[in-house]
Amino acid sequence: MAARCCICSHVVEATEGLQRCPQCGTAMMPNDPKDDAPFTLNVGDLRILLYWAERWARQCEKESPDMPKVVYAIAQRVRDQLPEAAKGTPLTMAEDFGKLKEAYPGAKMFDAQGNEIKPDGL
Ligand SMILES: [Zn+2]
Repeated sequence: MAARCCICSHVVEATEGLQRCPQCGTAMMPNDPKDDAPFTLNVGDLRILLYWAERWARQCEKESPDMPKVVYAIAQRVRDQLPEAAKGTPLTMAEDFGKLKEAYPGAKMFDAQGNEIKPDGL
């Protein structure tokens, strides 16, 4: 059975005896490429899903440190499949904040508790 790493997208043709991804080393369960499926979704729908997935992954990062990496890897795979006109659309909050920092380099962003938000991720 072939498998594709959910973080780095590395594909192996056989998984027997495989404990970790030979490319990035994650022990997370890989995906079976034969389960790839085409969907028709609006980019706005994808943004909502990825923003919430990112938020949850960040909240659970201490217990599951690979989850933000998985969400950002999925965001990248989604980005790779976007139509050319939508390629620059931020798909995660980190990317959105990063673009704001590019547009306003001296600006700082704060959450509702007054903590500075620093863009990371993609
Ligand atoms: Zn990997």
